[in-house]
Amino acid sequence: MSIPQLIADARKVVFKLGSNTLADKEGRINPVFLDEFAGQAADLIKKGKQIAIVSSGAQVAGLSTMDKWARKRDIHYRQALCAVGQVELMGAWKRAFEKYNIHIAQILLTQDDFNDPIRTLNMRNTLFTLVDEGIIPIINENDTVSVEEIKIGDNDTLAAQSAVLWSADLLVLFSDIDGLYNKNPKEHPDAELIGEVRDIEAVKQSITIGSANSFGTGGIATKLEAAKRAASYGIPTVLAHGGGCRVLEALAAGTQQGTAFLV
Ligand code: ADP
Repeated sequence: MSIPQLIADARKVVFKLGSNTLADKEGRINPVFLDEFAGQAADLIKKGKQIAIVSSGAQVAGLSTMDKWARKRDIHYRQALCAVGQVELMGAWKRAFEKYNIHIAQILLTQDDFNDPIRTLNMRNTLFTLVDEGIIPIINENDTVSVEEIKIGDNDTLAAQSAVLWSADLLVLFSDIDGLYNKNPKEHPDAELIGEVRDIEAVKQSITIGSANSFGTGGIATKLEAAKRAASYGIPTVLAHGGGCRVLEALAAGTQQGTAFLV
């Protein structure tokens, strides 16, 4: 099934945006991108779709505010940085969606929340209520309480867990690459894009997984795991470049390529 068809068929869609997609070349949250994204999301909502966003970028946003903390490696400073940056990040999203008269809501989660049946029920009910009221939930990991042992660790996994929790129809992972390649396109210019994946385990054996980006945490391996998790609940995943012009429209129209993980 093609990416335009997957998007056309899906009513509930989770979009995951990585730090590399949200930040500009100077490493600041890019308000032009956020505005363009919000406009396209608003159009999708008008067409009857429901949207949840998993947004990274707290650390990047925090660094723009607390640049003197840039070299601090201490875990409490990293967590403090994310706490500062989360406000900046949500402020940027709020300003972007405000123009389209859409309210947003912040949801911060940890792995522990997903392990607890009462918490997951509450999370699910909150998500349903928000979306039914036309509000866009913007989900991120709660870094303040996430020490290494209980960390989800990357937002690809968080996005897949959120898609499962919300019973989404489609998960869209935006990155800084056009999709899954047979080898890392950043290191190998002759790398070939894999447009469609039906068996994630089989494809994993047949490709070379290279290193991730400067701001990226998971790399391509976590995207494959996320797609696998979603697929095991019957949710297809699209992996695509988030930084192009009007990406949601381009993907829906088939003018932008990507990788479709089918179920
Ligand atoms: P993000 O922050 O957008 O989630 P990541 O940096 O975590 O992105 O992961 C995406 C990166 O993974 C790409 O920029 C690419 O350089 C790298 N990568 C390594 N191997 C592959 C591969 N086989 N196919 C695609 N990308 C790959």
